[in-house]
Amino acid sequence: MNFNSTDIHSFRDIWVFCEQRDGKLMNTDFELISEGRKLADERGSKLVGILLGYEVKDIAKELGGYGADKVIVCDHPELKFYTTDAYAKVLCDVVMEEKPEVLLIGATNIGRDLGPRCAARLRTGLTADCTHLDINTKKYIDFLSTSSTLDVASMSFPMEDTNLKMTRPAFGGHLMATIICPRFRPCMSTVRPGVMKKAQFSQEKADACQIVMRHVELSPEDLKTKVINIAKEAKKMVDLIGADIIVSVGRGISKDVDGGILLAQKLAEAFGDGVVGGSRAVIDSGWLPADHQVGQTGKTVHPKVYVALGISGAIQHKAGMQDSELIIAVNKDETAPIFDCADYGIAGDLFKVVPIMIEAIKET
Ligand code: FAD
Repeated sequence: MNFNSTDIHSFRDIWVFCEQRDGKLMNTDFELISEGRKLADERGSKLVGILLGYEVKDIAKELGGYGADKVIVCDHPELKFYTTDAYAKVLCDVVMEEKPEVLLIGATNIGRDLGPRCAARLRTGLTADCTHLDINTKKYIDFLSTSSTLDVASMSFPMEDTNLKMTRPAFGGHLMATIICPRFRPCMSTVRPGVMKKAQFSQEKADACQIVMRHVELSPEDLKTKVINIAKEAKKMVDLIGADIIVSVGRGISKDVDGGILLAQKLAEAFGDGVVGGSRAVIDSGWLPADHQVGQTGKTVHPKVYVALGISGAIQHKAGMQDSELIIAVNKDETAPIFDCADYGIAGDLFKVVPIMIEAIKET
């Protein structure tokens, strides 16, 4: 196939790999399509969703409702369940033929496996776990032109080209690194679920979205693994990303762990249909399961109300919750960094403060 990742002028359009499980689209798809729409508008290009699966044509139109101009559907029985070899083969084949300029993938378990595999095959770069994307070339050139430390004229990559600016936490979350991929295409990025805002669904746009069915070729040599059975975890995972109210606990509950978690549950219930989250210290101590972790290496959430109980407010924790609509913090140390991002801060012992909060909410 005539594919050369360094021939950057032959690449067009913004693509989003859309993930489905059991024939259902994921929330991440809608977030990435919404973000991709903004990038495509800035770039003046098309936004294309690529959907792999089996008997998934009917769900493709929904992606149009969030902004996709076109959805390419690769439908094949061997794509019913995710396997690295089959999905990487099919996705790379389509990318090599159609040459998208940008390829966004959700940083889900599947995306984190598929993205690097495809990037290596396509001989391009991938920025993993991004929290911000920008494609405004003009702003970028202006920035470089005014920067005293950079000599724009001596730069060897073509400045007139649009580069996707991909921002992600680096050095343990202590700084945000903005990365570009100037010499190779497609620019590939995995994007953290829950970070990008989902657009309003539009039936009109969904109806206007073009669906293209693509022939899939998979030979036995392409398939090194086969899914025989999927055993689902009996326990229901906590839905932190979709929750409106989250009450999170930190190491501050250590003097009575069970009592602290119970108080958080009661407070979450008092607020409405809330769920309990935790800092990494709580997860690492085994006080709550891993799916409850909020933060850089946990979930990124933006609920209507986020309550932090006995959480110091380390940068890695804040990275996952600071965009919440309303933040309430309870900490016995009035200098704790969590108060810097809190709308309401209560300096006090959570074991004394939370029962009073619960009573006060019940009375209103
Ligand atoms: P601590 O920092 O120990 O804070 C406990 C707080 O409780 C203190 O402020 C104390 O004043 C207060 N307190 C104690 N007793 C009471 C009481 N009775 N009432 C009220 N307040 C009380 N952390 C995350 O949370 N999420 C992540 O995703 C994450 N990812 C990370 C990734 C990397 C690469 C690294 C290096 C770290 C990461 N961390 C993450 C860890 C992070 O740096 C902090 O160590 C962690 O968030 C601390 O958790 P904590 O606030 O519960 O505990």
